Amino acid sequence: MSDLSRRAHSFWAACVALALVAWPLSGCIGSSRGSPGSYDEVRLLMDTVVEINACAPEGMGRDELRKAVEDAFEAMARVDRLMNARAEGSDIWRVNRAAGSGSWISVDEWTFRVIKRALFFARLSSGAFDPTILPLMELWGFGTKPHVPRQEEIGKAKRLVDWTAVDLDESNFSVRLNRPGMGLDLGAIAKGFAVDRAFEALKRSGVTRAIVNAGGNVYALGKRPDGGKWKVGVRDPDEPGTYVTVMRLEEQTAVTSGDYERYFEDGGKRYHHIIDPASGYPADSDIRSVTVILPRTREAQSDIGLVPNASMDADALSTMLFILGKEKALKFADENGIGLIIVDARRGISASKWAPEIFPSEHVSTGDGKQR
Ligand code: ADP
Ligand code: MG
Repeated sequence: MSDLSRRAHSFWAACVALALVAWPLSGCIGSSRGSPGSYDEVRLLMDTVVEINACAPEGMGRDELRKAVEDAFEAMARVDRLMNARAEGSDIWRVNRAAGSGSWISVDEWTFRVIKRALFFARLSSGAFDPTILPLMELWGFGTKPHVPRQEEIGKAKRLVDWTAVDLDESNFSVRLNRPGMGLDLGAIAKGFAVDRAFEALKRSGVTRAIVNAGGNVYALGKRPDGGKWKVGVRDPDEPGTYVTVMRLEEQTAVTSGDYERYFEDGGKRYHHIIDPASGYPADSDIRSVTVILPRTREAQSDIGLVPNASMDADALSTMLFILGKEKALKFADENGIGLIIVDARRGISASKWAPEIFPSEHVSTGDGKQR
């Protein structure tokens, strides 16, 4: 690839990052006559566009509602500051820098919880999901200069990806990576955790109806003011702006992973950002997109204490199930009470038995991501 086309590709990769999948199609505004008011704010966070649309409950003024939304954004920003592997001084940056030194690095309780949960999914998937994927992500240049690496480079980086070489000490929330060159990358799970924290912050402030959307990582709090559930569309992998199907959500999170979220093309081939640790290449999946839907009540089953984590689990699961492929993903979802909607390579749609009811596609403009 020439430098110019490489630039064009990375520019394109940045653009498609915005064209994500599970997407809210309804908001507070105008959803009921005389609704007590709403507040909508968009920020760029965690490499993506985050939108929070909150409706004021009876008796809550606009300033209070705005403060609630600000607190939710602040919780998400805190997750980013702690867990962004590329941000100098973050918890993950410090853990990675000390890889192989033998030193334990003490981290924030939030960071510890996310790493612990990521390792849970690594064990569950026998390493298909692996939070030590950083050397491969860096090699492929996702986020910087995407390109196809040489085979021997892939072999070398692959040997540094090993979730069993992560040590955790729960007594003082410290972490150690056993080999030099290793690195944690929580890109498949931290955004979900951030959305959980936003959801929690909104609830704590007394908000009862809201929708949080972090680039396709959606959490629906309560119902819309008109009493209906929140409409969330599953985007068409090939046609930005259209949806293959629409769901209705209440106190549920929906998270999508797809091969069209972040990718580049070279020699007519598409290379996306979900890497199979076994091959070192983008996962060769028969799935175009997988959407995981989990209810908030699942929090009760969390093995990491009281922290609600439905969106974190859905985030990790969507990445993990993408790699496993359609058949295994559906079987796993059916056996484990997980809502799943898959768009496959032939554009067919399959749903697990726990998926919410799905409705026919609607052609809606995504100018502002909403249909009111
Ligand atoms: P998005 O970042 O668009 O929400 P995903 O949740 O599917 O999409 O996460 C993709 C990210 O997960 C990658 O950018 C990378 O940081 C990380 N990742 C890639 N492959 C793996 C893997 N096999 N296991 C764990 N994390 C991965
Ligand atoms: Mg994910």
